[in-house]
Order: sequence, then structure tokens, then C-alpha cells
Amino acid sequence: MSMTRKDRAKIVIAGGGLVGAMAACFLGRRGFEVEVYERRMDLRAHDISAGRSINLALANRGIYPLEQLGLMEKVREMMIPMCGRMIHDQKGEQNFQPYGQREEEVIYSISRGDLNRLLLDAAEETGNVSFFFEHRVESVDFDSNRVVFVCEETGSEKSVVFDRLIGADGAGSRVRQALVSAQDGRDYLQPLDHSYKELEIPAGNGGAFQIEKGALHIWPRGGFMLIALPNMDGSFTVTLFLPNQGAISFDALQTRESVFEFFEQYFPDVDALMPGLVDDFFSNPTGKLGTVRCEPWHLGGKAVLIGDAAHAVVPFHGQGMNCGFEDCAVLDECIAEFGADWERVFSEYDRLRAPNGNAIADMALENYIEMRDSVSDPEFLLKKAIGFG
Ligand code: FAD
Repeated sequence: MSMTRKDRAKIVIAGGGLVGAMAACFLGRRGFEVEVYERRMDLRAHDISAGRSINLALANRGIYPLEQLGLMEKVREMMIPMCGRMIHDQKGEQNFQPYGQREEEVIYSISRGDLNRLLLDAAEETGNVSFFFEHRVESVDFDSNRVVFVCEETGSEKSVVFDRLIGADGAGSRVRQALVSAQDGRDYLQPLDHSYKELEIPAGNGGAFQIEKGALHIWPRGGFMLIALPNMDGSFTVTLFLPNQGAISFDALQTRESVFEFFEQYFPDVDALMPGLVDDFFSNPTGKLGTVRCEPWHLGGKAVLIGDAAHAVVPFHGQGMNCGFEDCAVLDECIAEFGADWERVFSEYDRLRAPNGNAIADMALENYIEMRDSVSDPEFLLKKAIGFG
């Protein structure tokens, strides 16, 4: 698409997480003037976490947009292939289930922070993208096309005029709330009665992986489970998914003894590999999970939602980021097809993507419910342990 001066709209993106940063890459590459406003500090300059889950499973649907942006050469250096699931039963027996026979039937463990940094750099390298960190969306006025941001450092307000607004501000999106209420749409957040906590299996001597490196590890226990993904430094990020309340729940794990006994009983083969388990359990936050559905995903030719802002899903398929990356590629294809007809661009993107987002959300929830309800069927648990990949 060749662009005229008139086409070069100023695009404001709210949120510079994985999906907002990728959208900035696509739009910057097309020559738009892009401003990204991100609530957190610049994680390239500050030693802060990139948000939820330290590492993620990157799958083919997320790789394709990275390829289109020409970033896969660099991303490949950060990826650890996981060729299948390693299921750990309660006796400590392991059962490896390959994802498939073909080479491409593999998913990859990747650091959220490293991938986010790479995307921020790539967006800046287009020469058309400016980042404003520590700026939080406070309100949006679609009559005057203005967003009010609050600077997290000083508390001062800044009003920014946009031609197009992209909401990439995650599950609790302020842009989504404004977009939906401006047109009497629907916005529905369905909280899950399970939460998660991240723990760690540190690297062994000389940076050795203490369990099989090339697998996504799962300890399915029916109503709850543990998973682990490898990191480049030889450690594993371990995530415990557990009900919020009940006999076996986060609520029931209030003392050091109870945490120790819980892991001894249900995950005896892994607790020996986590010397910092109990300290980590009490110092790391407990993360909430939920599903976001909304309708529509756009407001005329003014605004559109991408990533978790449009479709946060529970992580039992490992597809949230992958799906968000796909949103960016489809939005870019719509721009290529419909050029400066933004109403058409956004409505076509909405038509193509919303059914997909809803389907992934349903699949992730179904998988969770099936797992939860099938406590007594070990065969089922082995097969359906988790949908990652
Ligand atoms: P976010 O990552 O939430 O980023 C939103 C950004 O907007 C953040 O940087 C935030 O600081 C910023 N922001 C928020 N509010 C404002 C505001 N008011 N103003 C300005 N900025 C704001 N997906 C996978 O594909 N594979 C996996 O293996 C996987 N594992 C997961 C494991 C867990 C435990 C969880 C919780 C999720 C997992 N996901 C996975 C899902 C994945 O994390 C999300 O889908 C992905 O992070 C979505 O990216 P995003 O940029 O849309 O949203």
C-alpha cells in the first residue's frame, strides 16, 4: 500500500506489552506516526518484571507475525524447543507425550521480558514510533478524539489527540471500557475460581537443567496442577494452578508447614528441586485468571482493541499471546487491503478476529472444566492434562 500524506494518521496505542509493541512494529513499518503509552517503566532501562508469567509458550500462530516482521532470526536465539509434554504422576513416574511426528509440531519456551524488549527495540527502529512510559490511560473521549493519560511519576495529566486509537492495555483495558460504553456494546469479565503462583526450579551445577529441557512439564492432579517451562539459564519457571477456596486451595495454604506438606504430598519429585519453594511461595504474588469477552471490538474508524484487551483467556491452552500476535498480523493485512478506509479496516478486522478470540476462550475454559471434573480418571488426566500447544 502506498500512502499519501493524508493517510498518515497519528495512531495512539495504549499499552506497550507484547501485543501493543508488536502492533507498533507493524504500523511503524507502514510509515504511520505511532505513539505508544505504557503504564509501567521502560523494562529495557529498569530491572522490572514484564508482568504476568516469566516465560510463555510461543506457537506457530505467534511465530508467523514475527516472521513477517523479519524478527525470527533474533527471536530464535531466545527460544527453547519443547517437543512434547512430560507428565509427572504422583509417584514420580514420568511419561513423555510428543506433540507430533513432524518437525514443526513443537512449541517454544521464551522469556516474556526478552521478547517484549526485542519488540520495543524493533518498533523504535522503524523510526516512526515514540514510547511514553509511566503513562496510564485515565479516560478516553471519542467526541473530541482525546485520551487523558496520567504520568505515574508526577501525577500530572496529559491530554493527547489521536486520529486512531488502539487499545492494547490488557485484560483490564480502559480503552475497552470507553469503546464499549460509547456505543452501548457488551463487556464481560468472567473470573476463574482458580489462581496461579510462579515458583522456580533453579539451574543445577554449571547451569545444568535439573529436569528434561525439551519438554513442557505437567504434574496434573485433577482439581489443580503444576507446570514448568525451561529458561535459557538452566532454570525452570514453575506455575501452580490452584482453586482459590476449599480444602485444597490457596486459602488453605497459609503457613510454611502447610505449603511444605502440600508439595511433599502431591509433588514429591519436584519439591526436592526447589530449595526456595516456601520462601518463594510467600514472597511471589498470587495471580488472578479470567476470560474477557466484549462486543464490538471497534468503534467505527476511530478505535480498535487487540490482544488481551479484546480477548483475555485463561492460560490452559497457552494461546493468549499467540492469538494477540495474530491480531496484529490480521490488522496489518486489513490495512494493506483497505488503506485509509479505517472504518472498513477496523470492521473487517473485528469480523475476522472476534469469532477466533471467542473460540480460543471457550476452548481454554472447556479444557479447564474437563480437567477439574475428571479427577478420578488418570488416563484422561494424562491425555487432557493441559492444552498447551
Ligand atoms: P498484557 O501483556 O497484559 O499487556 C498490556 C500492557 O498494557 C501492559 O504492559 C500494561 O502495563 C499496560 N497497561 C495496562 N493498563 C494500562 C493503562 N491504563 N494505561 C497504559 N498502559 C496500560 N499466552 C501464550 O500465548 N502462551 C503462554 O504460554 C501463556 N502463558 C500464560 C501463563 C499465565 C500464567 C498467564 C496469566 C497468561 C499466559 N499467556 C500465555 C497469556 C499472555 O500472557 C497474554 O495473552 C499476553 O500477555 C497478552 O498481551 P497484551 O499485550 O495483549 O496484554
